[in-house]
Amino acid sequence: MLIKRIIYILSFVIFICPILVLAGNISIPVEIKQPIKILLVPGHDNEIWGSQYGKIKEADMNLVLATKIYNLLKKDKRFEVFITRDSSGYTKEFADYFSLHQVDIISFKEDVKKKMENKINNGSFVKKENVPHVSATSYMSNILYGINKWVNENNIDAVIHIHFNDYPRKNAWTIGKYKGFAIYTPEEQMINSKESNNLAKDIFSQLHKKYISSNYEKELDGIIPDQSLIALGSNDSLVENVRSILIEYGYIYRFGNSVMRHKAYINMANLTVVGIKNYFLLAR
Ligand SMILES: [Zn+2]
Repeated sequence: MLIKRIIYILSFVIFICPILVLAGNISIPVEIKQPIKILLVPGHDNEIWGSQYGKIKEADMNLVLATKIYNLLKKDKRFEVFITRDSSGYTKEFADYFSLHQVDIISFKEDVKKKMENKINNGSFVKKENVPHVSATSYMSNILYGINKWVNENNIDAVIHIHFNDYPRKNAWTIGKYKGFAIYTPEEQMINSKESNNLAKDIFSQLHKKYISSNYEKELDGIIPDQSLIALGSNDSLVENVRSILIEYGYIYRFGNSVMRHKAYINMANLTVVGIKNYFLLAR
């Protein structure tokens, strides 16, 4: 009887399981070193807070949402989570890094820019048109390159930039015509493009369960390749194994209502975390 049962179980493991896996019915965990290291970057900061709608500043919204994602991921011991800011500004780790490595960060930035210029000049990298963004001030550019340098040095598996969107219009206090979320990823020629895109797809499919993707004509694809955003590793400033994405969770003027805004933070954080876990923990 016992032998029969063992044979039955063995035959299931040997023959049926692989069939189910091949058929995509069972997801097996991907072999990945653990803990999986994630850096969350709530976009902008207290000095330059991005867009604003009434009294709501984008940097504050980004921080609330990023903190919720941080707290959810932190509960799972398979992840080691980092965040660049908290309610008092840059965390000690990052504030110290920016001030102690100021000179190194600037030479890192110049070095990657020079290497990219060479690639463009010799034709191995083709410049493409990107969706227009407000260009980073030199203060913000140094911070973003500093974050990329830190990410490369600390073997981070994924860096996720958290933003809310806006667009230039006559009166920033009115409700604009665009709505919905978009995820920006490194354009396909960039060294960290492939896996960044796969991560973006997993998060996109979760967010899309509850939210529409952007109706802005340049964001209609939902996942948008970009070469120019430092956050994504422009000038190949992020190494190959760092997945980088920038999520614009929605247009800021759609979140004027406080109750609805706080509900959105919870939903967005939950969906983002499911997307991250699906990417890192399930076989595709
Ligand atoms: Zn922003």
